[in-house]
Amino acid sequence: MDIFAKYAEVRARHARLLEAGADPFGQRIDEIRSATEAVVDGRPTILLGTNNYLGLTFDPACREAAAKAALEQGTGTTGSRVANGTYGLHQQVEAGFRRFFDRRHAIVFTTGYQANLATISALAGPEDVILSDADNHASIWDGCRLAEAETFTFRHNDPDHLDKRLTRLADRPGCRLIVVEGLYSMRGDTAPLADFVAVKERHPNAWLLVDEAHSTGVYGAHGRGVGEALGCEKGIDFIVGTFSKSLAGTGGFAVSDHPDFELLRLTAKPYMFAASPTPSSMASTGEALRQIETRPALREAIWANARRLHEGLARSGFTLCAGVGPVVAVRMPDVETTVAAWNALIRAGVYVNFAIPPGTPGGLCLLRCSVSAAHTAGQIDQVIERFAEVASLPA
Ligand code: PMP
Repeated sequence: MDIFAKYAEVRARHARLLEAGADPFGQRIDEIRSATEAVVDGRPTILLGTNNYLGLTFDPACREAAAKAALEQGTGTTGSRVANGTYGLHQQVEAGFRRFFDRRHAIVFTTGYQANLATISALAGPEDVILSDADNHASIWDGCRLAEAETFTFRHNDPDHLDKRLTRLADRPGCRLIVVEGLYSMRGDTAPLADFVAVKERHPNAWLLVDEAHSTGVYGAHGRGVGEALGCEKGIDFIVGTFSKSLAGTGGFAVSDHPDFELLRLTAKPYMFAASPTPSSMASTGEALRQIETRPALREAIWANARRLHEGLARSGFTLCAGVGPVVAVRMPDVETTVAAWNALIRAGVYVNFAIPPGTPGGLCLLRCSVSAAHTAGQIDQVIERFAEVASLPA
């Protein structure tokens, strides 16, 4: 039997997509020119699907730091910190995360995906239960699978449903680990974190972990995420995030005030058995953190762009999945229309994210835009015009 036979349906679906034009899941970017511009199929293209929220991938100081670290300390660490040693840069960046989040402990990981795998699987043991929001990211679900705890799902952004689930589990021994995100990356909606904190506090032995992957650097007066924006940070026990969005690198982090948090270094397999982040990624991330701390104008710029795009697309009659925010998800009626619109946009020099079921919550078909502080008002206006042209195409 062919070992790939189980993917016949995936292959058929992908073939149907290709018939419609370019491959939205394999789009090649021929040349990257800045945080917001690339050359795609020979055409100058505005990048509006990068998660490069603060545009720091091209920041001169971040690039300089990455280049210098690679030149001075090499291209890779070639092993895990447990087996092969910790670099000074790992510790410096962990100190940076402690300072930034005002937490006692911080651990860095090789990717954000691993940060979730490591943190969730190490925190929740066989005696415990995990309560996970239905719309959580794949890395959270995989963290739940890796953990030996039983996992229960509650309805997306529904603290009452979580409360009911916890009440029903009241007689179970062990701890309850509640896992939600700050900003959900597909629809662009934020979690009612203060309500989740209140539910957690009503139930004994409950702990709250928030993945602020998409909200770090963007939400809150200091950029600490949706928890900061909603004034409930101290009720969050564990914050997880990534270097790969606002922080413009590759890696992940987790922070906490729990006095035993450092035990994760001795218990979390995705930390212990994977090579640690590279010197250049650590150096650029450390610099990006400093930029976030010292340049509030970056946050002002992304919010101004988010408002401009949101208002423009809404004015053109598009249905948007959430209020103003760095993720602006345009709702499309079906897969065929989404494919056609995505192809028309790429031909018109606008790159957005193509998102269809099963990769989306609630069976939604989306053209997902992510705004950057580095976009100019002119670029945002061009995008709005291109969207309006696409919308007026015959179905
Ligand atoms: N959490 C969330 C909510 C994400 O969207 C992602 C990836 N986009 C990750 C974690 C994983 O981060 P990374 O890309 O750094 O592995």
